[in-house]
Amino acid sequence: MISVEQHLGRILDTVRRLPPIEVGLLDALGCVLAEDVRSAADLPGFTNSAMDGYAVHAADVAAATDDSPVLLPVVNDIAAGNTQALSLAPGQSMRIMTGAPLPHGANAVVPVELTDAGLAAVAVRSPVEVGQHVRPTGDDVRTGDLVLRSGGRLGPRQLALLAAVGRSSVRVVPKPRVVVVSTGDELVEVGRPAGFGQVVDSNGLMLTAAVRALGAVPFRVGPVVDDAKELMSTLEDQLVRADAVITSGGVSAGAYDTVKEVLSRVGTVRFDKVSMQPGMPQGFGVLGADETPVFTLPGNPVSAMVSFEVFVAPALRAMAGRPEHESALVPAVVETGWTAPAGKTQFARAVLHPRRVTGTNGQDCDFAVTLVGSQGSHVLGGLAAANCLAVIPAAVTEVQAGDVVRCHLLGAMMEA
Ligand code: AMP
Ligand code: MG
Repeated sequence: MISVEQHLGRILDTVRRLPPIEVGLLDALGCVLAEDVRSAADLPGFTNSAMDGYAVHAADVAAATDDSPVLLPVVNDIAAGNTQALSLAPGQSMRIMTGAPLPHGANAVVPVELTDAGLAAVAVRSPVEVGQHVRPTGDDVRTGDLVLRSGGRLGPRQLALLAAVGRSSVRVVPKPRVVVVSTGDELVEVGRPAGFGQVVDSNGLMLTAAVRALGAVPFRVGPVVDDAKELMSTLEDQLVRADAVITSGGVSAGAYDTVKEVLSRVGTVRFDKVSMQPGMPQGFGVLGADETPVFTLPGNPVSAMVSFEVFVAPALRAMAGRPEHESALVPAVVETGWTAPAGKTQFARAVLHPRRVTGTNGQDCDFAVTLVGSQGSHVLGGLAAANCLAVIPAAVTEVQAGDVVRCHLLGAMMEA
């Protein structure tokens, strides 16, 4: 028997960050940047107006008041997108729109609200300071500025910045491509009726969805029967398109546990009993010339999901170059106690309720936590109702109301 930490440690020591590739900006969403990005341009690229109003020489309107407005001729009309190089002489004004280039010589913009909005001439009712309502060239970003550092994750805001500084593609750590293989003679495809003795391949769907929700790229392989040859040839076929493989089923001590039988003979996959509940039988190793990581998860749906959360998700994040703190645990105060198995880390399906509450140890928490559904490892209903796994250390056998426990969030629908 090995501990959860030992098994996870072995996995994280084995998996490698994927080599960077260049991708189009939209395909980089959710990826980790693999270059330092310097701006190829000033932002804004030209001095422009921050308001709809009138470009002026500030000195011309210094004496303007409500009672005695300053009257200026309006000699031009500048819309956003105007590309002419215009000049404003003292004593004149130009009507200007937000984002339009400020004419040479002008040094301020009077908002239209402080004028009579005149077209041939404008009455200005208030002074403006030099530079007011003007966005100078390079105010935001200067050419050569380091705008994004290697190692950061790209979301919509970072992609906008990349686009604005002139990039159409960027070097990133790619999203891991993950093949999901279900095994078992009893499995039928999703949508087909499960006859007597059969079950729908819900794991295949769940793990595929989990890979996608994590921000990786899944390839789902239909259920494979419990036959050594079939399984081996499926794995050989799939390895070419995979950065990682996840199997479910066939790893316990039964007579038809084919995954264990086949993978014990090739690669470096090692099968261990991990001191956890649920999810005890686990296998991990690398397979094929590219040393592709293979995770063999137990078949019980709850065990499979817990194993994905605890072992596969951190590995896929590491392969994607993502920081470890993304899977940080949340402390919560127990509402009603429960028992936990001796000598095993328990991952109890539970619901977090946002509420300010203090534990019996005096710790203030932002959440209370309650168990949900029966804790059997085949119980999908309880799993679907849960939004976290309460992680109970191996030494603890009684969880009491008021205890502070650490919870692994299941809630995120999409990480990218
Ligand atoms: P195994 O790990 O193959 O011994 O399977 C353990 C339990 O999980 C059995 O009740 C299986 O029917 C069930 N199971 C295995 N694979 C799947 C799957 N892909 N979808 C749903 N249930 C499964
Ligand atoms: Mg099986």
